[in-house]
Amino acid sequence: MKNISILGATGSIGTQALEVVEAHADLYRVCALTAHSNAKLLISQAQKFKPDLVVIGDDQYYAEVKAALPGIKVLTGQQALCEAAALPQAELVLTALVGAAGLQPTISAIEAGKDIALANKETLVVAGDIVTQLAEQHGVKIIPVDSEHSAIYQCLVGEEVNPVEKIYLTASGGPFRGKDREALAGVTKAAALKHPNWTMGAKITIDSASLMNKGLEVIEARWLFGLDPDQIDVIVHPQSIVHSLVQFTDGSIKAQMGLPDMKLPIHYALAYPGRITSSYERFNFMDYPEFTFSKPDMHTFRNLQLAYHALRKGGNMPCIINAANEVVVNAFLNDQIGFLQMSDVIERCMEDIPFIEKPSLDNYLETDSYTRIFAGDLVTKQAFLTQNIKY
Ligand code: NDP
Ligand code: MG
Repeated sequence: MKNISILGATGSIGTQALEVVEAHADLYRVCALTAHSNAKLLISQAQKFKPDLVVIGDDQYYAEVKAALPGIKVLTGQQALCEAAALPQAELVLTALVGAAGLQPTISAIEAGKDIALANKETLVVAGDIVTQLAEQHGVKIIPVDSEHSAIYQCLVGEEVNPVEKIYLTASGGPFRGKDREALAGVTKAAALKHPNWTMGAKITIDSASLMNKGLEVIEARWLFGLDPDQIDVIVHPQSIVHSLVQFTDGSIKAQMGLPDMKLPIHYALAYPGRITSSYERFNFMDYPEFTFSKPDMHTFRNLQLAYHALRKGGNMPCIINAANEVVVNAFLNDQIGFLQMSDVIERCMEDIPFIEKPSLDNYLETDSYTRIFAGDLVTKQAFLTQNIKY
């Protein structure tokens, strides 16, 4: 029986993870559940799974959650999230909360010696050097849940002594694949929220449409697998069946495939190093007579280019790009800015926010807060760089 803390239990990954736990109640027990503001769902999850600890991030819902769960410890606030992450009985912590809010709880979990099933890619984007170093120091495994990284992790099993030449992260291309900048200028949030292959939370769905998701994943891969930026390639594969590939120094390539269902990588991360039986629909080759692969259009989807630039520059630049992106995605979802202006604001933040070459954790946290204020101000003033595109 493995005890699992699920941070972000009410989200797309969190609810799918609970489906996996429910289907394998003989293998897994949930010891902590957290959410930000969806009190109703959190309460019903807690009534069903009976964890030892429940955390509601937003304190205005605390009284409601507390009253509904007699006999269960209920806490609120950022520090409580860290407590859920470091709960003594937890063996594995699934970080399924969204954004840089995942950084400190993930650090708490690592410092408490918990293995991490990492969905929250933003944690590695913001402070990948510190997080991976801490994991090494504490002998903690970071098992990716992101489907591309899970694919690579699976391809690397048994290859510990063999150096990787390069990896290919596959991208569906999102709902706007093939469109030019003129067409993108007027796209609506409703169109951006319709992903062709995956159903996910709003933030990652917009990131997928803008290719920022792939940019964040390139940075995530750099830290998970210890690669140089030049060893990480992105390839558009609209069928989303080949989840990613690893090329070894002899030229051989291994790929991991499966239907696009996040429960598969969740399964893998929970069961690692084993595999558990599932009854999910199996892939049928006859349904896919053709797989296609092409280069991403980084001229139209500038975010991917910006993310590569941030990764090459290093320091606090990926942290800047992540915080600016969280602000602009929110602004786009609130109809404050257009689709293309998201990249303009991000680029402006990358140019204007002070660069720190070797940031401490405090530097990262300060950069994150400062970038949110700076980017928020650009959105309010509608001050976008539309000329002078450098990347
Ligand atoms: P959702 O938006 O669906 O869920 C986010 C979860 O985090 C919810 O439980 C939410 O609570 C909670 N949350 C939101 N903001 C905060 C905060 N400030 N502090 C604490 N908790 C918070 O996101 P997804 O499940 O789609 O994504 C989660 C993570 O997994 C992201 O990092 C994403 O990039 C990654 N990922 C997701 C995939 C997917 O298929 N969805 C695929 C690969 C990676 P509440 O419901 O109360 O708001
Ligand atoms: Mg992914």
